[in-house]
Parts: sequence; C-alpha cells; structure tokens
Amino acid sequence: MNVFSHPEFDNHEHLSFFCDPETGLKAIVAIHNTSRGPALGGCRMFPYATDEEALRDVLRLSRGMTYKSALANLDLGGGKSVIIGDPRKHKSEALMEAMGRHLESLGGQYIAAEDSGTSVPDLKIMGRHTSHVAGIAARTGFDGNPSNGDPSPATAYGTFIGLQAAVRHKLGRDDLTGLKVAIQGIGNVGFRLARHLKEAGAELWVYDIHEDNMRRAVDQLGAKPASAEDILFLPVDVIAPCAMGAVLNDRSIPEIRAGIVAGAANNLLDRPEHDAMLKQHGILYAPDFAINAGGIIDVFYERTGATPEKVRAHVDTIGDTLTEIFNRSDRSGLPTGEIANELAEERFRKHSAGAGLASSRFARTG
Ligand code: NAD
Repeated sequence: MNVFSHPEFDNHEHLSFFCDPETGLKAIVAIHNTSRGPALGGCRMFPYATDEEALRDVLRLSRGMTYKSALANLDLGGGKSVIIGDPRKHKSEALMEAMGRHLESLGGQYIAAEDSGTSVPDLKIMGRHTSHVAGIAARTGFDGNPSNGDPSPATAYGTFIGLQAAVRHKLGRDDLTGLKVAIQGIGNVGFRLARHLKEAGAELWVYDIHEDNMRRAVDQLGAKPASAEDILFLPVDVIAPCAMGAVLNDRSIPEIRAGIVAGAANNLLDRPEHDAMLKQHGILYAPDFAINAGGIIDVFYERTGATPEKVRAHVDTIGDTLTEIFNRSDRSGLPTGEIANELAEERFRKHSAGAGLASSRFARTG
C-alpha cells in the first residue's frame, strides 16, 4: 500500500495508523493542512474491505475538510479519522476509549466530530480520555433552541441561506413565495430545510426512501410527494439533494429541468468534470462544500464559545461566499465548483505562517 505516492495523497501534513489489539481498534487519522488552525473533521466507522480503501477515504475526506473550513473562513484546518470495522458488530465502549487515548496522543492537532458510523455518545466516551472531540456539548443552539451538539439545524439553515443566494443570482429575486423546490432526502437536514422554505412561502416536492420521513413533510409542511425516479427531474426552480452523493452524473444532468442545484449532501458530483457539465447545461450549481458548511461553523463555535447571534451571523456569510463564487464564475466562464476550490485555496494558502507550526507538530508526533 503506497502512502506518499498514493493518488489521493496531497501533501498531507500527518498520518497516523493506530492499532489496539485488546479492543480491536484499527484507525487512521489524516491531517491534511493546519495552516488556518487545528484540523477538525468527523470520525467515521465503516467496515472497509481493505486497508487501502480506508486510507483512500481518510486522505480524500481530510483534504475536503481543509477546503470546507477555509471556504467558510474558519480558523480550522482539515482532518478526518476512520475506524476500520462494522459499527453494528465491532463497536464497544473499550474501543471508543482506545480511540480517545489515541486522539489525546496527537496533542490537539486533530479534533474529532461525529460522522457516519459514530454518534454523539461514542464521542462522549472518547472524551473520557481527551478534550479533542467536538459536537457533543449541550448548549443553546444558533437558533436559540436547546442543542445537544447536533449540527443539522445549522447545516439546514446555511443551505437555506445558500439556496436563497442562488435564487437571487439566477432568478433575480429575493422573495421565495411560490418558488418551486424539490428535495431529495427528508432526514435531519432535508426536513429542516423544507421547513425554512415553507416558512418563506416556497412550494415543495419531496422524496425519501423512508416513507415515514416523506409523510412527515407532506403532513406537516404541505409538501407534495414525489417518486425516486422523478424527484431530481421535476419542472421546478431548484433541486436540493439532501440524501447521498454522486447524484449529479452523466445520466442525471441532461435530464435536470431545474435551473439551480442547491442541496446539502456531500460529494454531489459523481466526477469532477460534472461541474463543467452542469454549467454547459445552464444549471447554477451551489458547490456542496460551500453550501453545507453551517454544521462545521456551529461545531467550531461550540469549542470557542460564542453567542447564538454570532454563530448565526457567521452561517449567514455562506450566502456571501456563494455570491462571490457565482460572480467569479460568470466573469471567468469557469464552473462554480472549480471557483470554490480556487477561493478555498486562496483562503488557506494566505495563512502560511501556520505552516511552520504544523511541520514542527509533525516532527513531534510523526
Ligand atoms: P440523514 O441520514 O438524517 O438524512 C438523509 C435522508 O436521506 C434520510 O431520511 C434517508 O432515508 C434519505 N435517503 C437515503 N437514501 C435516499 C435516496 N436514495 N433517495 C431519497 N432519500 C434517501 O442525514 P442528514 O444529516 O440529513 O444529512 C444529509 C446529507 O447532508 C448527507 O449527505 C450528509 O453527509 C450531508 N451533510 C450533513 C450535515 C449535517 O450537519 N447533518 C453537514 C454537512 C453535510
């Protein structure tokens, strides 16, 4: 298994492989870049078929976090961790405690948050041995409601703000009354996004593989049920994919009738070239890692402490960032995803002073 010559290796500052035979813990932590601050990112537990698969995932995802946090103007770097194992079979308190001890040994250069396969209770168990976990504190959320650390409300609100910016740019309107929006995936983020849109007067279509999730939006928000086959292809103004990635692909893009794609799901583009394909089809794409940054903003302020107003004001800047991306894309003719990458790089490369700190940390722990 190659590391430095791995196709997903992108000058990552630090990688650590951790094994604890007593608990069965096998984990990899990847820190991509800390020039803006400590690397924050989820800890994923997944039954990877091979070590190579786990390495690929952690390298790719940690890099993505650098871009997401920089684009959101947070003093955070990018990192991610993966635990190799089936969360339903191999998860134990002892294993999570061992992970906590490993995180502590990294001295705070990586901070773990929940991700698929891990939950707030798991992070709390890790937290018995380290303070370098995030997204677990009960507090008043950015919206003034009690929060248990779940970032979904902030992600949904940020997606709503980003969707509004896209509508302003493409359709030249601020008022969302009567705007037609189709949402794929009515889970933690999708349902809350639907509620924001409903309150703003939008007309909604929804689909979720779980009938009860879809029903909730139909019954409580007056949304219209759609099918798996048509949710992304309805004659609406906006589609908001909030379920899974890779839904923007060779097959789907030519069939999309909406002029805007603005959804929270990660890795929406099947391949990088689908960014340009969307532009060629006249579809305004709000890059996923720009529009869904509300959650990471919320988690950041949990650690530093801030009033709900301050957190909300920061989430509101997602609209400004997207407007800048759309304007630059219009001026340059380049697709929005490419512009978002460029803007993120400008934002994390500017902070070069931190790079020396990062490499001295590497020397200490590598
Ligand atoms: P969730 O699991 O609560 O909701 C996802 C919903 O999508 C579920 O209701 C599920 O039944 C549904 N779904 C799954 N496959 C589907 C399909 N093929 N068609 C239609 N519906 C389907 O997850 P979430 O927290 O709401 O996150 C949604 C997306 O946003 C994910 O891609 C996640 O990675 C991304 N995201 C979430 C956050 C956050 O703060 N929760 C932050 C950034 C990005």
